Amino acid sequence: MKIHEYQAKELFAKYGIPIPAGKMIHNSEEAMETAKEIGGGIWAVKAQIHAGGRGKGGGVKLARTITEVKEHAESILGMNLITAQTGAEGQLVRKIYIEGGVDIAKEFYMGMVLDRATEVPVMMVSTEGGMEIEKVAAETPEKIVKVSIDPLYGLQAFQIMEMGYKIGLHKKEMKEFYQFAKKLYELYIDMDASIVEINPLVLTTDDKFVALDAKIAFDDNALYRHPAIVEMRDFSEEEPAELEADKYGLSYVKLDGNVGCMVNGAGLAMSTMDIIKHEGGNPANFLDVGGAASAVTVAKGFEIILKDPNVKAIFVNIFGGIVRCDRIANGILEATKVTNVTVPIIVRLDGTNSDEASEILENAHLNNIIPAKDLADGAKLAVEAAGGR
Ligand code: ADP
Ligand code: MG
Repeated sequence: MKIHEYQAKELFAKYGIPIPAGKMIHNSEEAMETAKEIGGGIWAVKAQIHAGGRGKGGGVKLARTITEVKEHAESILGMNLITAQTGAEGQLVRKIYIEGGVDIAKEFYMGMVLDRATEVPVMMVSTEGGMEIEKVAAETPEKIVKVSIDPLYGLQAFQIMEMGYKIGLHKKEMKEFYQFAKKLYELYIDMDASIVEINPLVLTTDDKFVALDAKIAFDDNALYRHPAIVEMRDFSEEEPAELEADKYGLSYVKLDGNVGCMVNGAGLAMSTMDIIKHEGGNPANFLDVGGAASAVTVAKGFEIILKDPNVKAIFVNIFGGIVRCDRIANGILEATKVTNVTVPIIVRLDGTNSDEASEILENAHLNNIIPAKDLADGAKLAVEAAGGR
């Protein structure tokens, strides 16, 4: 689960991680009042959406007068903000954050994630603050300093010192940096975060470390331990089709290709997407209908997949283990009665009762149902049906 910058900063404040004074607001009147309350001669007006890269997209602006605060608030609120992370459709800005402007001496990056390879949390810092960290990692990985943290011992002083020296901090800056890193680690562990990112973490002209940006995502499996975090969920930031799927126990993730996928099992769903790619196509979604796929879930699956206007063909790839293929075949027929499926459906049903399933589909004589021999054949047919490579 993701939260907004302003919510992440509330948590930072609770943990004693320094942030500029700021407040989330909904209109330009409040923006001006808030700027006056905060004081100082410079303010940042920041779009609150779940995606990053807002600055480049015009969603973060600095104001030097109260009138400018109002102007920026008006232009940002209600805008459709397109960033590298929102995709081409962009995201509507419903809330903004007004915070005090900071005099930046240096910009750094600081983040924490779970490293799946070493199975421990990793803290990362870099002198390349304010840049896209993915780009830094790809082009100049030596500029990212990483320390692996044994969760039994926690983040150790020598590790913080090592990070500090490697990013060129002076001795006088080390004490504050130490506190900063310690608190960030504490928050990450306490909150069961899956990622915490501060980009940029700045050193101000008066030698203070301040988090100018804040991104936190939480491990969904641990949310039951954090009711206050669950309260922070902003449904308007989430893909409506994904929320709908969630209600029916389907795991759906929208992607930007044109081959809709309906698969049972997350592993098979992943390999289905790989094989579609291999055949030169692009999956429109990830969809795992789960182990207990039924006529109802299949129908709902079709409905959700078809909400995406890009979908030109649907590849149904079901392996009958516990679930029997003949049931799924009937489910597909039922589903096409309930949901008007206008695109070709390529069906690969393998495993328990697959022969019966083929018969059922053949006897239905539906001309938009195309049977596939196996996985590779199905992927090929689906890519062709969607308009080719
Ligand atoms: P994003 O990463 O989504 O673009 P940021 O919060 O990182 O958004 O803001 C973009 C840039 O705007 C930052 O890299 C920083 O240079 C500047 N900025 C953001 N907040 C402030 C602030 N309070 N004072 C001064 N500059 C800021
Ligand atoms: Mg940022």
